[in-house]
Amino acid sequence: MSDQPTLTSKRQPHLNSRLQGFGTTIFAEMSALAAKTNAINLGQGFPDTDGPMEIIEAAVEALRSGQNQYPPGPGTLELRQAIADHQERFYGMAVDPDHVLVTTGATEALTATMLALCETGDEVLTFDPTYDSYGAAVAMAGARLRTVTLEPSAGGRFAFDYERFEAGISPKTRAVLLNTPHNPTGKVFTDEELGLIADSCRRHDLLLITDEVYEHMVFSGSHRPVAGLEGMADRTVTISSAGKTFSFTGWKIGWAIARPDVLSAIRTAKQFLTFVSGAPFQPAVTTGLRLGDDYYNGLTQQLRDKRDLLGGYLEQSGFNVFTPEGTYFTVVDIDPVAPESDGVAFCLSLPERAGVVAVPAQVFYKDQSEGSSLVRFCFTKRDEILIEAGERLRATFG
Ligand code: PMP
Ligand code: GLN
Repeated sequence: MSDQPTLTSKRQPHLNSRLQGFGTTIFAEMSALAAKTNAINLGQGFPDTDGPMEIIEAAVEALRSGQNQYPPGPGTLELRQAIADHQERFYGMAVDPDHVLVTTGATEALTATMLALCETGDEVLTFDPTYDSYGAAVAMAGARLRTVTLEPSAGGRFAFDYERFEAGISPKTRAVLLNTPHNPTGKVFTDEELGLIADSCRRHDLLLITDEVYEHMVFSGSHRPVAGLEGMADRTVTISSAGKTFSFTGWKIGWAIARPDVLSAIRTAKQFLTFVSGAPFQPAVTTGLRLGDDYYNGLTQQLRDKRDLLGGYLEQSGFNVFTPEGTYFTVVDIDPVAPESDGVAFCLSLPERAGVVAVPAQVFYKDQSEGSSLVRFCFTKRDEILIEAGERLRATFG
């Protein structure tokens, strides 16, 4: 049974016990609420403009030139080579394309990894708040998710207690699952934190699964894959996807990078989930990965500006704002403006009060009291939309 109920976590008669409590994802629920109330949707994380036309043209070309049948199981060699080259170009990491598996988004890479690696009763240790698919993927594998909470600190960052993290490791722990940049908090794990996590994995002989889908959305400094740390390439499954980096969240092309025996296990699970992934989108994503630095720098700069634009309005509205170091989400504490409310009640009434939809962060916590006053806003929207939403919030709460 899930420890992370969504807004509709009521019992479903036909759903097996492993998935009871997972309900409908909070993102689908809040997007439905936005559609129903005609409110501005700053809930579910997706951009309201498409990515580069060059990438669209590459997909159209692939559709027209007959790349419409099953692609190779691991992904096309061109795409796997482009993923390997991307790791070398941005992080100086030498990756063999044979160590790359193309998946149907990061979601499938995560689920296939859990299904491949976990025995019933194994534990996977991660950080709360936890992106929603982790709990479901672990539950489908018959394993159990354990969490260590990222605590909001007075300095406006989220941090974890290393002793608690170590205490979360048990003889049943199969893997640590790390998301950096982190959804929903916007935290980018520091080099020191990554070093500590890697050190624990080495000492306890654990695999590390990293979800790096926001790797090109780091606002100061740059992203650091843990697989690049000493001795970690062999014990890390690095997962990412094209959805965020190129603003095509609906295309669902992702990947996993791991040493051959681990990757082979993940490939076995992936084969029977989807077999292969999106033939015409693979050459398109190959084109995207080979775009020049100006594209990548522009993406980061644009998002940094959007973060600051929305962040200004959120502050003027009276929220306590946790300025994100990465991702396209800003988490606020609603306590100063709605001391009587929790995040779920606040988000359910927000469309009517302010014409805006946001996501309550508490549904990402095992112990929901921990995140009860936290709410997440997505800022990967056109500036005029952010301004309109910001003005509505400021008029309502400021
Ligand atoms: N991990 C995190 C942290 C996410 O926010 C998301 C949302 N897109 C995913 C994984 C899923 O990525 P994809 O759409 O590529 O499956
Ligand atoms: N990752 C996106 C978010 O956090 C949503 C993806 C989804 O709806 N599953 O909002």
